[in-house]
Amino acid sequence: MKPFTYERATDVRGALAAVSRPGATFISGGTNLLDLMKLEIEQPTHLVDISRLPLADIEELPDGGLRLGAQAANSDASADSRVRTRYPVLTQALVSGASGQLRNKASIGGNLLQRTRCPYFYYSAVGCNKRDPGSGCSAIGGFNRVHAILGADDACIATHPSDMAVALTALEAQIELLDADQSVRRVAIADFYRLPGDTPHIETDLRPGEMITAVVLPPAPQGGQVYRKVRDRASYEFALVSVAAIVETAGEMISRVRVAFGGVAHKPWRSAEAEAALTGRPASMATYRDAAEAAMRDAVGRGHNDFKIELAKRTLCRTLAEAVQVEQRRV
Ligand code: SF4
Repeated sequence: MKPFTYERATDVRGALAAVSRPGATFISGGTNLLDLMKLEIEQPTHLVDISRLPLADIEELPDGGLRLGAQAANSDASADSRVRTRYPVLTQALVSGASGQLRNKASIGGNLLQRTRCPYFYYSAVGCNKRDPGSGCSAIGGFNRVHAILGADDACIATHPSDMAVALTALEAQIELLDADQSVRRVAIADFYRLPGDTPHIETDLRPGEMITAVVLPPAPQGGQVYRKVRDRASYEFALVSVAAIVETAGEMISRVRVAFGGVAHKPWRSAEAEAALTGRPASMATYRDAAEAAMRDAVGRGHNDFKIELAKRTLCRTLAEAVQVEQRRV
């Protein structure tokens, strides 16, 4: 690990000033950053600890939504009674991530910014465009079992590891950001993450010196909410494929639906194709299968991860069926 200096920020303004210094970066829970520093993939010269800033509250909003402070622990957010009852898909996604100890430490803001778990990204002896732009992608032609099947590019086929971000995508959350001039902006989560293109090292819309201060949830959607995660072991493992589904029905018909996939792309993957194939159709397995085919129409396997295409279809069908059951029990 490279030497670095450390300070604990006591107020937001001071934290933003401190991070403007060359080589400085924020640290909160550090559950991903410290690993990256030990491997010298990230080499900050100064850490600004923002974990004690007063940004951990979960607050009601006038429109009926909820504001999750960026420093709220993942475990606290998942256990909040308002999140559990109004946004169960978010609680399900949060508790499926990492381990209890990590969820106690990891912040909401840090969860959004965690880096890919592509093994080649963490192994500096080989090329990786995300770690070292222009050095190639070792996963293409390598062991790419966990890699992307949608939205990938020849520059990078990594996936985004967050479960929480997949649920937030289905919930149409916004990310609240604050810059050094104290200007606040909100970005829809769908626009916050980027596809790799030819700059896979730039993963989000976060600007230099900006801080994530909150995640803003709109009023809770109607409909059954389910997050389903498929992985190699039942705990402490990243998704091979996951699906967040929010389904509203009118009688036997699907009237409104939102679908987002995890584990399949460089960002949480909202599937407009699946949603179009479901809306106005009967809530039946035949409809779910049509939606699954539509969602994976442009999917591309890279060899070891070919199985993900079928896995994603089946996971979507199962998740939709469960979400409809939840919705029908609710009404
Ligand atoms: Fe690097 Fe992306 Fe290729 Fe993995 S998939 S080796 S992160 S460029």
